[in-house]
Amino acid sequence: EVLDPAVRAPGPLLRHVGKTSRKSSRHHRIDYLIVGAGFAGAVLAERLANEGKQRVLVCDRRPHIGGNAYDFYNENGILVHKYGPHIFHTNSEAIFNYLSRFTAWRHYEHRVLAQVDGKLLPIPINRTTLNQLYSLDLEDDAAAARYLAGKAEPTEEIRTSKDVVIAQVGTDLYRTFFEGYTRKQWGLDPSQLDKAVTARIPTRTNTDDRYFQDIFQAMPKNGYTDMFENMLAGENIEILLETDFRDIRPRFADAHVIFTGPIDEFFDCEFGRLPYRSLRFEHVTYDQRRLLPVGVVNFPSEAVPYTRLTEFKHITGQIHPKTSACFEYACSQGDPYYPIPRSENQKLFSQYAELARSRTDVTFVGRLATYRYYNMDQVVGQALTAFKRLQNKEKVNAG
Ligand code: FAD
Ligand code: UDP
Repeated sequence: EVLDPAVRAPGPLLRHVGKTSRKSSRHHRIDYLIVGAGFAGAVLAERLANEGKQRVLVCDRRPHIGGNAYDFYNENGILVHKYGPHIFHTNSEAIFNYLSRFTAWRHYEHRVLAQVDGKLLPIPINRTTLNQLYSLDLEDDAAAARYLAGKAEPTEEIRTSKDVVIAQVGTDLYRTFFEGYTRKQWGLDPSQLDKAVTARIPTRTNTDDRYFQDIFQAMPKNGYTDMFENMLAGENIEILLETDFRDIRPRFADAHVIFTGPIDEFFDCEFGRLPYRSLRFEHVTYDQRRLLPVGVVNFPSEAVPYTRLTEFKHITGQIHPKTSACFEYACSQGDPYYPIPRSENQKLFSQYAELARSRTDVTFVGRLATYRYYNMDQVVGQALTAFKRLQNKEKVNAG
């Protein structure tokens, strides 16, 4: 069976990734056309199909499901994350329980070291960081708090990613850990970015060296892609990979669209391009068991071209005689990975958001479509909320 030849560049026909392969839906109607098979698209597909009993078609222009969380076994048989390290963490029991229907978990608490002056120091900054960086002997929380209070430079208004760090830890620690990393990662000085960006990284006076403190911290036991396969395994879900939404929309003109790609692109960039930050990933396999002492090493120095290095086996728990790692280089061109949080971008996004509100045929969900610097769990939460709204609308329409 082939797709309508009038459709430009169709991808593999419903190359279903699950345990069973299924045929095209071209002869029957679909209720929802979901654009993007990442967290936003997969959660909505799962809910709409399994709970809402709707017929769903998911398309993605990439050759795989999972969006940016996609993982796969590389040519050496090592499980790697194609688009950089993805560590699951959440404080929401509801979100954790929801995902637990599709995967078992491996408990994992993420730790990161920053390479500074030839030393590897814990980041987020904690008491150990201070003691090792400055050869101090701060014995307890109170001593570390006093030390930081002496360094902090409180400002009247905390607006930018520079203000928020300097107000807490002062200029020296800001320069050491944040300034260079942020410039590399965003192509902007921290003073040009919303405070929310560096506020993701706390400062601690204790010796807790975990990157996250969420109640639930775990990795899908068999990887993200396996979890996505289970989410998308329902009878009412069909998947079309390597397929751009634009090429198939005319064939499913009656279906309600759930769009999880970049919102500006949906509207042909009519108000101008929304800036997204891109990354280049350099994957390398080493003929040794271990490369790094922890899962990720950050490189705040601008003299180093990449921002961080990830060794996946720490994160996945895989045992293997070789090890695979990934260097991340930030860039302005390429696939969109991060919305860039600053007020002028938010203003531009608002114009698109207003257009979006006027459209009853499309729902925008996810990190790119709602231009929010969301973690995976937040996208899952947003998608579950969107599902409830859609379901209520169905009920109203039916009534
Ligand atoms: P995406 O995963 O981007 O999915 C959108 C999909 O839509 C894509 O697959 C795209 O191909 C497809 N698409 C777009 N336009 C079209 C179109 N026109 N036609 C067809 N398909 C289209 N979060 C955490 O919680 N923990 C982490 O440790 C973490 N690490 C991260 C590291 C990196 C390097 C990055 C970039 C992100 C990280 N995140 C992390 C965030 C996480 O990746 C996102 O929150 C989540 O994957 C977003 O899901 P989504 O469905 O909104 O978008
Ligand atoms: N950051 C930094 N130095 C670090 C770690 C983070 O300056 O060692 C800043 C940087 O601006 C980064 C932001 O804090 O983009 C958020 O860091 P996070 O690790 O949450 O980024 P992500 O994993 O989302 O790329």
